[in-house]
Amino acid sequence: MNKADSERMAGILESMGYSQSECELNADLVIYNTCTIRDNAEQKVYSYLGRQALRKRSNPSIKLVVAGCVAQQEGEALLRRVPELDLVMGPQHANRLETLLNKVDTGQQVVATENNHIIEDLTTARRESKICGWVNVIYGCNERCTYCVVPSVRGQEQSRTPKAIKEEIQGLAIKGYKEITLLGQNIDAYGRDLPGITLEGRRENTLTDLLYYIHDIKGIERIRFATSHPRYFTTRLIEACAELPKVCEHFHIPFQSGDNELLQKMGRGYKIEKYKKIISKIRAIMPDAAISADAIVAFPGETQEQFQRTLELVKEIGFDQLNTAAYSPRPNTPASTWPNQLPEAVKIDRLRQLNSLVEETAKSRNHRYNGKIEEVLTESINSKNPLQMMGRTRTNRLTFFTKQKPNHGSFKPGDLVNVKINEIRSFSLSGIPVNE
Ligand code: SAH
Ligand code: SF4
Repeated sequence: MNKADSERMAGILESMGYSQSECELNADLVIYNTCTIRDNAEQKVYSYLGRQALRKRSNPSIKLVVAGCVAQQEGEALLRRVPELDLVMGPQHANRLETLLNKVDTGQQVVATENNHIIEDLTTARRESKICGWVNVIYGCNERCTYCVVPSVRGQEQSRTPKAIKEEIQGLAIKGYKEITLLGQNIDAYGRDLPGITLEGRRENTLTDLLYYIHDIKGIERIRFATSHPRYFTTRLIEACAELPKVCEHFHIPFQSGDNELLQKMGRGYKIEKYKKIISKIRAIMPDAAISADAIVAFPGETQEQFQRTLELVKEIGFDQLNTAAYSPRPNTPASTWPNQLPEAVKIDRLRQLNSLVEETAKSRNHRYNGKIEEVLTESINSKNPLQMMGRTRTNRLTFFTKQKPNHGSFKPGDLVNVKINEIRSFSLSGIPVNE
């Protein structure tokens, strides 16, 4: 989501006549779009800002901006810490960048962190990929997970209208994009703040309705979405994914912990039994779907037994991928004030154990691809081997294959290629293109 915001801001700058500088230490304007999900992400920005502040002291015309969630969290305190800053702007203000920079031009230091109704974004994002595009569908988060800083920095849920979303995707299709990923912190909440109840009394404008509504846009070959929340995940959604050919066979559903007591302390609103039921339903309806998740180790008070339950769950489910993190206390979150914080050494040890287990399960999951022919959407040349292209399977597996076509010519970004998989690693595959 942070990347998607960066791309929108870069698009605004381009429309204002800026072009991208090769090096941040030569630029006339520098924006750090920050993340505060964990402390190490936040600390990085302070070291970058130190260098920029030095530059600005000898060249006052340089403009320095901090955007994103650290900006929202720290607000004016950031100006006190780095007085050289021109603009501090929270994530809800990303598409107001031009207005805010114009204010800076009148000689003010600007802080934009007030709650903001995000107006429909008419700017064109400067997207890094020409093939795969992010599309925000819901901003903010109304959950209150006790470890998480997101609700306080990204604010209340705000869904975009199905029409605005469709128009953005149509625009991408015209430009040659082949894949879109719908984005929301809790994407299952999509549409809750939009009007509409069906004749049978069901809420309209759910994520499932949105998938049907955008499915047939010509040119778009693949549709993904993230992040799903187990509390609100529906069977109707799985059935839609199975029915709609462009929706890819991949679900990203964070479980966070394998222990019910911890899940309750985290404020997640489900038990592990419900999580397992969701996975069984997916596997009954879409047996080959990839399943990935997020998990946190060493949450305050996590016992050895509770941590074991996370390991057991990972073994039992056999995730294709797992984003893991050691618990990091965040400002203005309940869990950060609890006295039962775990020592750093425990965090490091549990994270290491979980990561090595994930490597094993991911690799053994990947063996199912061996010898199979998978459809790969070509994204770019493999930066480590110019004779190869890289792309992803429908299940989101990174795959490398020969650039040369079986007959003549070579593959280019955007091509859908059938690749026969002959090399398996934990987090990527390699194979040979075939004529099928
Ligand atoms: N909205 C998504 C993801 C939010 S942030 C969800 O609810 O799943 C992405 C991931 O960062 C979370 O899933 C969680 O695993 C991790 N995370 C969030 N806050 C954290 C914290 N304080 N310490 C460690 N990991 C955290
Ligand atoms: Fe954070 Fe929970 Fe919202 Fe995800 S659902 S963004 S973890 S508060």
